[in-house]
Amino acid sequence: MDKALKDRIEILEADITKMEVDAIVNAANTSLLGGGGVDGAIHRAAGSELLAETRTIGGCPTGEARFSKGYRLPAKWVIHTVGPIWSGGNRDEDRLLASCYKNSFKAAAEIGAATLAFPSISTGAYRFPLERAVNIALTETKSFLQTDESINKVFFVCFGSEVYEKYQEVSKEVFE
Ligand code: ADP
Repeated sequence: MDKALKDRIEILEADITKMEVDAIVNAANTSLLGGGGVDGAIHRAAGSELLAETRTIGGCPTGEARFSKGYRLPAKWVIHTVGPIWSGGNRDEDRLLASCYKNSFKAAAEIGAATLAFPSISTGAYRFPLERAVNIALTETKSFLQTDESINKVFFVCFGSEVYEKYQEVSKEVFE
């Protein structure tokens, strides 16, 4: 087990809009104009200035990431990434989800975020199978952290005990 690496991740059951970190990641849609689930919660908590800024960004393709300020959130930044909609597994979903994590880390490095919080991207309304998505999330995080020294802590913010337990279970395989 790589202890130093494992110490740089934390899995918790919480509301991501309350996280006091440099940046939170939003599971957005391609319009970047807000939506349901975690996206709606982030827009409500950040206030209407967030929408005013994301309007100027002009959308984001699936698998990519963009960033904005956090406005009324405790987090200074919001990294908006668009996860794939699950449609059976033959439409490049795994690669696109991995790419969300890669591009979110890249954005975090660009804005100098040392602490970062992710929701479980694509596993809500977009129906990506949970265990498969969690494996991708943790594997991508491990590979990024192995080559990076700028990020001190990555939080996986789980909504509900099912998601929390799955992250705990998969992290034992990936990080130990
Ligand atoms: P997607 O469209 O990418 O599937 P959803 O927002 O529907 O995004 O779901 C992604 C995950 O975010 C789900 O596990 C959902 O329960 C969770 N979620 C919803 N609200 C919050 C919140 N306030 N904080 C953290 N996670 C949340």
